[in-house]
Amino acid sequence: RGMKEYDISFDGFEVPAENLLGGVEGQGFKQLMNTFEGARIQTAARAVGVAQCAMDLALKYALERNQFGKPIYKFPRVANKVVMMAVETMIARQLSYFAAREKDEGHRCDLEAGMAKLLGARVAWANADNALQIHGGNGFALEYPVSRVLCDARILNIFEGAAEIQAQVIARRLLEDK
Ligand SMILES: Cc1cc2nc3c(=O)[nH]c(=O)nc-3n(C[C@H](O)[C@H](O)[C@H](O)COP(=O)(O)OP(=O)(O)OC[C@H]3O[C@@H](n4cnc5c(N)ncnc54)[C@H](O)[C@@H]3O)c2cc1C
Repeated sequence: RGMKEYDISFDGFEVPAENLLGGVEGQGFKQLMNTFEGARIQTAARAVGVAQCAMDLALKYALERNQFGKPIYKFPRVANKVVMMAVETMIARQLSYFAAREKDEGHRCDLEAGMAKLLGARVAWANADNALQIHGGNGFALEYPVSRVLCDARILNIFEGAAEIQAQVIARRLLEDK
């Protein structure tokens, strides 16, 4: 796994008042909410990176691996998987750029950030799954990086707002003008 977890605990650990995060007492939740647009856009960008990595690994392997006398990329069902990875990665990337541009221009972009994060995480997972499939039995082996990509892709749908929460944000916004 690319991301490790550890236990951390504090006991009687005093923090001076001037170290209060955000500087204003009682505003922590609001301040945290203000970071969500940016955090979701950067998570969408990370998802695009994972999706691209999965596609690169799949294409490389499909060109190197020979079965029935030819590279497996020559089999349409294998090539088609890579094609859909290319298309969906492009869509996720462009949506992430769009959300980031909206943020840079100071516009409200919780809808766009939620969409980019939701889609990016799905595409990363789908690409990783298909890339592993293209690796056949080798995809299951820890020696091949694609097995780690699949594992790392899974978290993208959970942190920085799970897929269900992004969907909830989008569902609410869709009703705003109704
Ligand atoms: C590797 C890793 C790194 C992390 N990094 C960070 C970090 O840097 N900063 C940070 O703050 N947190 C971090 N987290 C925590 C992460 O944000 C939470 O795990 C995530 O928000 C889900 O919360 P939960 O685990 O309590 O699941 P729960 O809230 O218990 O959710 C369980 C399931 O129920 C669904 N669910 C919950 N509430 C609703 C609802 N209202 N409507 C519909 N479905 C719902 C969820 O979508 C999910 O499918 C990290 C977690 C992991 C595993």
